[in-house]
Amino acid sequence: MLISEHNLKKTLQKILLQAGSDEYEADLVSDHLVRSNLAGHDSHGAAMLPIYIKNISAGVLVPSMGARLVSNDGSIMVFDGQRGYGQRVAAEAMDAAISRCKETGLVLMTLRNAHHIGRIGTYGEQSIAAGLVSLHFVNVIDHAPLVAPFGGRDARLSTNPICIAIPATGENPPVLLDMATSRIARGKALVAMNKGEQMAEGLMLDSSGEPTTDPAVMFQEPGGALLPFGEYKGYGLALICELLAGVFTGGGTIQPGNPRLGGIVNNMFTFLVDPGRLVDHDWMQQEVDAVIRYVKDSPPAAQGVPVMVAGDPERSRMAERSLKGISIDDATWNAILAAAESVGLSRSFL
Ligand code: NAD
Repeated sequence: MLISEHNLKKTLQKILLQAGSDEYEADLVSDHLVRSNLAGHDSHGAAMLPIYIKNISAGVLVPSMGARLVSNDGSIMVFDGQRGYGQRVAAEAMDAAISRCKETGLVLMTLRNAHHIGRIGTYGEQSIAAGLVSLHFVNVIDHAPLVAPFGGRDARLSTNPICIAIPATGENPPVLLDMATSRIARGKALVAMNKGEQMAEGLMLDSSGEPTTDPAVMFQEPGGALLPFGEYKGYGLALICELLAGVFTGGGTIQPGNPRLGGIVNNMFTFLVDPGRLVDHDWMQQEVDAVIRYVKDSPPAAQGVPVMVAGDPERSRMAERSLKGISIDDATWNAILAAAESVGLSRSFL
């Protein structure tokens, strides 16, 4: 089915409110999910809501919970998400870090113990809107690992995303690199399974460590494993996320000595920098534009497919989906309706 962003947001908002969120949180979380769908990251869009509702009843996600400032020492800010909606606690921690960065020019902000913070690009967009550069390293814990280390046959890490955000210039929109360190995010396997599609080759292993294209292996017991992108380089970055976001936030890594309650907990290690404290503003803009122009001028490898920079694919999908609507497959829509019923809403109410 095709649904407008407005109607999808209203539907998600109703369910979130009924499931214990206040108005502000329901608005923020539904907006994040719908914008993920608009950006083309359906894996981090409305399809996550049924999981959130299940996690509330399991006690591993706490609605209407804000971020707690644990330590506030000049340019270092440490937050605890208290298992609140990640979209909320991460936005709050980012807001505080952005205000501080305007004073200090540089902030290291850590956030631990947040329920799923969703599409990390959202937080890059927050710093971009404030004219700041940001770098985000994230790990994912509280459930079994999903990603095999390079050279291994089973999962030992998670999809540990990295996001780096560079503000827009007069000529160019922002550069927003926002990526899992696995070849694909796990949610992409869920979306493919829901649609009855096979995955491309080289993305995952089955439970015996053999290559497979069947997304269902990621949702079976014993499960398969996603592969890291870029072989040992992606694996190296995934491990760095585990160390930066797992150890230095205090949130913990995916090693099996830590609790696994079956939720989705993200820890995020974030640097924010005011570029105006580093270089002349006009020179910076000219140089950013010049290098983007130079890169994009490379002759296309495939006829009619121009070179893009990070953030371009999301912008073009957003323009298209805002106009045409968001496509939601039947399995995802039925899961959303079942989640609504589980919190006492009737299907006709939606
Ligand atoms: P992706 O592979 O679709 O895109 C990764 C990056 O590459 C993006 O910045 C995109 O703009 C850029 N890109 C894509 N095609 C390009 C091209 N042809 N030329 C230039 N740049 C291009 O994204 P992904 O790795 O599947 O991640 C999807 C989402 O999942 C992200 O938003 C990420 O934050 C999120 N995620 C979240 C978690 C979590 O625990 N919260 C875990 C993993 C991933």
